[in-house]
Amino acid sequence: MIIDCHCHAGKGDGLTGPWDTAAPLRDYLRRAAQAGIERTVLFAAFHSDYREANRQVARIVATCPDRFYGFAFVHAERDRGRAAALVREAVEVHGFAGIKVHRHDARISREICEVARDYRLPVLYDVMGEVIICELLAEEYPEVNFIIPHLGSFADDWRAQAAFLAHLERHANIYTDTSGVRRFDLLVQAVRRAGPHKILFGSDGPWLHPGLELAKVRMLGLSPAGEQLVLGGNFLRLVESQPVVRRNTAAAQPMSVRPAYGPPRDGDPWAGNGAAGGAIW
Ligand SMILES: [Zn+2]
Repeated sequence: MIIDCHCHAGKGDGLTGPWDTAAPLRDYLRRAAQAGIERTVLFAAFHSDYREANRQVARIVATCPDRFYGFAFVHAERDRGRAAALVREAVEVHGFAGIKVHRHDARISREICEVARDYRLPVLYDVMGEVIICELLAEEYPEVNFIIPHLGSFADDWRAQAAFLAHLERHANIYTDTSGVRRFDLLVQAVRRAGPHKILFGSDGPWLHPGLELAKVRMLGLSPAGEQLVLGGNFLRLVESQPVVRRNTAAAQPMSVRPAYGPPRDGDPWAGNGAAGGAIW
């Protein structure tokens, strides 16, 4: 079971770059199918209203609930005072399985960490190089699992990524994903120092090619058991620790049969313009 733990979906409402404009899934899903990726965690692009953006993602997840997991995007400042309400809707109505926070919006807050703790949700927090926060997160919220994507820096900040390895190694509740990491030897070190049980395969789709990102994991030369942890086992462990309302327990259900190759076909919910009510992806 290969699970991509990091993919964006839906429309942003900005016009700065792809990251706040649109995250169309059509090509992503074709590429993921070709690569053998069976499930994907979806969260919004940057947006000025994450309640709305999360609802968009929920509509996409609902088209294929045994294919997608949703994570609720929360803005630590703009959603101050309503993070619990946002997450409650995301979990109890939409069946989401985690929280996404980005330092580009604002630094993660205690409010978000406490909501994550209450709902026992993993938090995927892009620290944008500010990896020292792991020290505080790990100490203050030992019961919350944090996935720090890109080894701590999508911008390929070697100093930050190298420093992050110590946090990944030392703190039981600090995890990472492989998305966008270019310096391969840092991934090798992450495996050696922290172990494959701390690393999740993620692509940062649809903007990065999921097959290309997956190839990096394959090239780590892990044992079959270790590779399976990175490719899906770790993610399942993190989301299955939730006792609360999980949407129809996708993990326990067989996957629907999907075409392994070829473009989306008419009727495929991921082909766009489908049941989700418009071209949201
Ligand atoms: Zn991302």
